[in-house]
Amino acid sequence: MSVLDLRSLSKSFGGVHAVNAVSFAIRRGEFLAMIGPNGAGKSTCFNMINGQLAPDSGTILLEGKNIAGLAPRDIWRLGVGRTFQVAATFGSMTVVENVQMALISHAGEIYRLWRPAASLYRARALDLLAQVGMREAADRPSRALAYGDVKRIELAIALANEPRLLLMDEPTAGMGARERHELIQLVKKLVVERGISVLFTEHSMDVVFAYADRIVVLARGRLIADGDAAAIRANAQVREVYFGTGKTFAGAVS
Ligand code: ADP
Ligand code: MG
Repeated sequence: MSVLDLRSLSKSFGGVHAVNAVSFAIRRGEFLAMIGPNGAGKSTCFNMINGQLAPDSGTILLEGKNIAGLAPRDIWRLGVGRTFQVAATFGSMTVVENVQMALISHAGEIYRLWRPAASLYRARALDLLAQVGMREAADRPSRALAYGDVKRIELAIALANEPRLLLMDEPTAGMGARERHELIQLVKKLVVERGISVLFTEHSMDVVFAYADRIVVLARGRLIADGDAAAIRANAQVREVYFGTGKTFAGAVS
């Protein structure tokens, strides 16, 4: 069974069909990229999956259960994690405390949060920080982190919640080419180990073609292609949307 199965999902804003009868599925453990020009409907799709927006019509099946229109918190509880929406970490806490809080919250101990809890889950939090390459920063205040490091902490926090599906809308926004590759490579390694499925958007075609197992392409709210890197590169409609006909994807950044 697919982890996530979108069926004829639609959402309009006034007269704009932001997402128009979009259907695709994500398999278990799949690293799926969603691409498309600005305004194609990618974020609207993400926001329907995570519950921030209710679809006008269509279904969103999470392991067979329709989650369309549920509240974000309920969708999160069902195992749909997300990262990188905003800098979600709390600046007044240390890095490791932020991750501990996620672990404690995931364990359902939210009400114990504000008691002295320095040792609670610290070992597991440190282990997660080591996995995202941030062990050294554990006892620094979160507010002191560099931008790229905040993203790594957010990844650790997302993993603390043990999602079955992770949504990442433009995780590498604002990053240079090298940092983009490093972050996506790290995400892929960590999710593959855990069998987590990922849906992500990314502007760098180099990154998409290097790491995605499969790619879906949106244009003006419609799904125009769904396939592996070779199929997407060769797809005439996709080329036309990005470049007009005849050009290649080499070096493309939209
Ligand atoms: P993408 O993430 O692919 O750039 P979006 O999903 O953000 O695209 O936007 C798709 C379309 O829906 C665009 O035309 C955008 O202007 C419109 N849109 C998105 N969100 C809203 C909103 N909250 N209110 C009105 N129009 C919106
Ligand atoms: Mg967007």
